[in-house]
Amino acid sequence: MIDAEGRHETILKIEALHKTFGPVVAVDGVTLEIRRNEFFALLGPSGCGKTTLLRMLAGFETPSGGAIWLSGQDIAPLPPEKRPLNLMFQSYALFPHMTVRQNLSYGLEMERLPKSEVRKRVDETLATTDLTALADRKPDQLSGGQKQRVALARALVKRPKVLLLDEPLGALDKKLREKMQLELKRLQHEAGITFVIVTHDQEEALVMADRMAILKDGKLLQVGTPEEIYEAPQDRFVANFIGIMNFIAGDIDRDGTFSTDGYSFALPAKRPPGAATIAVRPEVIRLSKGADGISGTISAIAYHGLDRVLHVATKVSDAPVQVRVTAEEGRHFAPGQPVGLLVDPAKCHVF
Ligand code: ATP
Repeated sequence: MIDAEGRHETILKIEALHKTFGPVVAVDGVTLEIRRNEFFALLGPSGCGKTTLLRMLAGFETPSGGAIWLSGQDIAPLPPEKRPLNLMFQSYALFPHMTVRQNLSYGLEMERLPKSEVRKRVDETLATTDLTALADRKPDQLSGGQKQRVALARALVKRPKVLLLDEPLGALDKKLREKMQLELKRLQHEAGITFVIVTHDQEEALVMADRMAILKDGKLLQVGTPEEIYEAPQDRFVANFIGIMNFIAGDIDRDGTFSTDGYSFALPAKRPPGAATIAVRPEVIRLSKGADGISGTISAIAYHGLDRVLHVATKVSDAPVQVRVTAEEGRHFAPGQPVGLLVDPAKCHVF
């Protein structure tokens, strides 16, 4: 939500949050603001502290240091059930002996809401999650995707200010996962609830998140929109973790010209001279059939729907350089063929 001055309203403020388990530093001084109604993803490799961070927000883990503010209130003294946020577990944790409707009603009945209010809220939530037709089934009569929707509906029906989701799509196969990614985003939008989701899947975060945070070894490396992080990664780790990135070794001279394998171009920003590695995305490299550019040989061609990704072996990169082309362009190339690689200087990163 944006106020009259165009500022985003912060719903969740995390300040210098720290968590150690004996000698292990799981979360190392994370400071972060999450905005009202945004879809926020916590992303990072296994063991980077994502789940621990989420569990501290939910109140299942006590911070070793730092603070968490929800709508301006320090929530440290509140037990999990008193926090206006709800954690949806990876395992769904549905009650097997209850129908879908009873699974949804249970939490509201515990809050002693009037029967008519429970019915109204459950009906509304069943409708938004497309579960009305399945309301009288039990969990073992549902598919994986349907169970996932019930778990989500059960969390939404309580109308938390923030919904925390730990790898919510982890148990689903690829196709269903992709469908549910869009579904989750639609539901978040319709429900008007802030979602904080933990995932180790960068593609999933790129598809769903309004903004995302990249964590490594308990530390926050970068926060931004998917575009910002994809187009302006702040270091080599982030560049490599999000999307495909090629790393090409060479040298920068005093004038700021980068040279590699007899090919050179002026870098957009001045850099100190010396050995350097540039990072370039597969879609900003062009191929030439002539002698210009970095010389290489096509080692493989991978089909990605409408696109082709050509793998090009060179002397200046450890891994084959990946170049994305259209199917039409791809027709002109074959494995074993020599090519030149031309880099768009404006689109390369130097770390
Ligand atoms: P994954 O994607 O594999 O679930 P993660 O990013 O969620 O990983 P966490 O589960 O938060 O990572 O764990 C962060 C670090 O803290 C890891 O080194 C882990 O081994 C450690 N850790 C987590 N919980 C405990 C615990 N209860 N006791 C000891 N160490 C723990």
